[in-house]
Amino acid sequence: MSSKPHFSIEFYPPATPDGIEKLRGVRDQLAALNPEFFSVTYGAGGSTRDRTLQIVREIREAGLDAAPHLSCIGATQASIREHLAEFREIGVKRVVALRGDLPSGMADPGEFRYANELVEFIRKDSGDEFFLEVAGYPEVHPQARSFEADFKAFITKARAGANSAMTQYFYNADAYFHFVDCVRREGIDIPIVPGIMPIASFTKLARFSESCGAEIPQWMRRKFEGFGDDAESVRAFGLDVVTALCERLIAGGVPSLHFYSLNQAGLTSELCRRLGLVNQA
Ligand code: FAD
Repeated sequence: MSSKPHFSIEFYPPATPDGIEKLRGVRDQLAALNPEFFSVTYGAGGSTRDRTLQIVREIREAGLDAAPHLSCIGATQASIREHLAEFREIGVKRVVALRGDLPSGMADPGEFRYANELVEFIRKDSGDEFFLEVAGYPEVHPQARSFEADFKAFITKARAGANSAMTQYFYNADAYFHFVDCVRREGIDIPIVPGIMPIASFTKLARFSESCGAEIPQWMRRKFEGFGDDAESVRAFGLDVVTALCERLIAGGVPSLHFYSLNQAGLTSELCRRLGLVNQA
C-alpha cells in the first residue's frame, strides 16, 4: 500500500477566450498526473460565475472530478440556491464554500456574513448532497483579531458541516502542524489539507502574500532578493524550498496536498514528480 498522499489542483478562471483555451492544454497536462480533483476559484462578488461553471463543466466532461469554489459575501439565499441547482445539473459533488471578499465598490454584503453561515445554509438546503470544503488559515486570516478568534471561527465553520478543509499557503510547516493540533484538541477530525503555492516569481509572491497574510520567512526572502532578475535561480530555489516543505508535510502525515497551480502546468508537475506523487492508483 502506498503511503503517498493524494493531491488536488486549483485553477482560476481566465479572463479571455485565449486564456480559457490555454487552460484546456494545462488541464490535460495536469490530468495526466492523476489528481484527485481540480478546483476552480470564484471571483469576488460573483464576477466569474459563468466562467467558473464553464471550466468546471469542461473538466467534468473530460471525465475528471471538479469542485467549484463558491463565495457567499454579496449573495442572497436565492442566488446560492441557483448556484446549487447549476452544480446539481452538471453533476458536481464537491464545493469549496467560502465567505470571499466584497469587491471594492460593492456596498451590500448580502444575506451571509461568514462562511459558516454558507455551510449551514447548504446543509439545511441540500442535506449531505455536497461534500463541503472550507478554508483554513494556519498563519491566521489577515482580518482576524487574533489567532484565538480566527481559530474559534474555523471550529464554528467545521461544526456547521464541513467535510474537509484546505489551507491558505504557508512556508512554515510548524504553523500548519500547530493549527492541526489545535483543531484535533477540539475533537474535530476532518482532513486539513495544506495549500501549496509553487514559486514562479518572487515579486508577485511577495505582493500577494502581504494581502493574504502568508509569511515568507526572512531567510527565503533575503535569498530570493539576492537573485534579482535571475528567473532561473528563483525557479530552482523555489522548487527546492517547496519540495522540502511538502516532504516535511508528507512525513508529518498530511492526508493530501492542494496545489495552487496559477494555471501553469510546469511547477506543479515538477513538484509532483519530485515528490513521487505521479501515477498512483
Ligand atoms: P470566513 O471563514 O468567513 O472568515 C473570514 C473572517 O471572518 C476571518 O477573519 C474569520 O476569523 C472571521 N470570522 C469567520 N466566521 C466568523 C464568525 N462566525 N464570527 C466572527 N468572525 C468570524 N477567495 C475568492 O474570492 N474566491 C475563491 O475562489 C477563493 N478560494 C479560496 C480557497 C482557499 C483554499 C483559501 C484558503 C482562500 C480562498 N479565497 C478565495 C480567499 C477567501 O475568500 C478570503 O480569505 C476571505 O477573506 C475569507 O473567506 P473564508 O471563507 O475563509 O471566510
